[in-house]
Amino acid sequence: MSLPVIILKPGKEQSLKRFHPWIFSGAIKNVRGNLEEGDLVSIEDAHGNFLALGHYQVGSISVRTISFENEKIDDDFWSRKIQAALDLRKVLGLVGSQDTNAYRLVHGEGDGLPGLIIDIYGNTAVMQMHTVAMFKLRDTLVKSLRDVLGEDLHAVYEKSEGTLPFKAEVEATNGYLWGRSESHLAIENGLKFAVDWEKGQKTGFFVDQRDNRALLEKYSLNRSILNMFCYTGGFSFYALRGGAKLVHSVDSSERAIELTKKNVELNFPNDSRHVAYADDAFKFMDSNKEKYDLMILDPPAFAKHMKVLKNALQGYRRLNTKALESIEPGGILFTFSCSQVVSKDAFRTMVFSSAARTGRNVRVLHELGQSADHPVNIYHPEGDYLKGLVLYVE
Ligand code: SAH
Repeated sequence: MSLPVIILKPGKEQSLKRFHPWIFSGAIKNVRGNLEEGDLVSIEDAHGNFLALGHYQVGSISVRTISFENEKIDDDFWSRKIQAALDLRKVLGLVGSQDTNAYRLVHGEGDGLPGLIIDIYGNTAVMQMHTVAMFKLRDTLVKSLRDVLGEDLHAVYEKSEGTLPFKAEVEATNGYLWGRSESHLAIENGLKFAVDWEKGQKTGFFVDQRDNRALLEKYSLNRSILNMFCYTGGFSFYALRGGAKLVHSVDSSERAIELTKKNVELNFPNDSRHVAYADDAFKFMDSNKEKYDLMILDPPAFAKHMKVLKNALQGYRRLNTKALESIEPGGILFTFSCSQVVSKDAFRTMVFSSAARTGRNVRVLHELGQSADHPVNIYHPEGDYLKGLVLYVE
């Protein structure tokens, strides 16, 4: 059966020729054949030359490329892709490690699998689909995961409720696609944490901050630390292990605070250095009297679209200004943005203007990003979403 074909307007093939994986709706001249959301499509230039194979989606990004070769897309294709993703994690030392069994196995475009996220927590794979095509492929993907991971895999949990395009005519329900997990415990750099993939945000844990948490540990000795937007407390238990004097974890979600307390308890039972507060970031910073000499600001994506970018930058600026005003002399600020639409430059400029408002002497110690198991496809710079700076404040 021949595939439906999308024919691009003259000149619109340029970005595909530079291997950018997306085709925007405005680039499409016409369609040959019957095309439905979630279909595999062949892409041709205006002269009928083959360009790529991709997944069709209704919306401004109409096609996400899965191959630049005219090859057969069968079960073996998906297994090869998953195997390639696993091979990279082996290079990173994440597979079979005693210290860390939580990592991202598939990072969408970064692994040539747009629309698909797979996180591994011990023997469980948590899969999150962002396109209808990937959603339709879920049984194939489970098979590929089982082929590739073999006995290391005991369960596959699907967490696509709410991540598929909201107008899509498919209904995702969260649940096990295969097997059952015996445990919700995972390990990161030797620290234990419980991952709630059923009810937690995203796939249950933010593995992208692993390396940054490890860096924080090195700065923690004898410091008074505020972990703002703590979610499951990741930064907090690294800080405790690093020898912090006190650690305050803050998140507006009660559930996040419960998880944080549970995780701290798992690693440091009855440790009076740690206190967790369910509170709004701005309220907490306005009313709290404690002096901190290390702060972490890891807010949620204030901007998910370009349209709200300006407001988001204002929000980030307010927050960073507050932190820079109140941090003790000789203090260290770990500040992040996980908004894809906030560029590295925009983030740095925002931090710069926050610092300028306070008039304090501020120096950049580190520029941070996402851990390497969230690789960025060089042809898809949009994948570089997490930005961070470590600042020294005099
Ligand atoms: N630092 C975390 C991830 C942070 S995710 C980690 O390493 O895992 C962002 C968190 O910000 C979420 O848990 C969310 O509940 C919290 N949040 C959102 N708005 C907030 C606000 N106004 N004040 C405090 N926390 C907020």
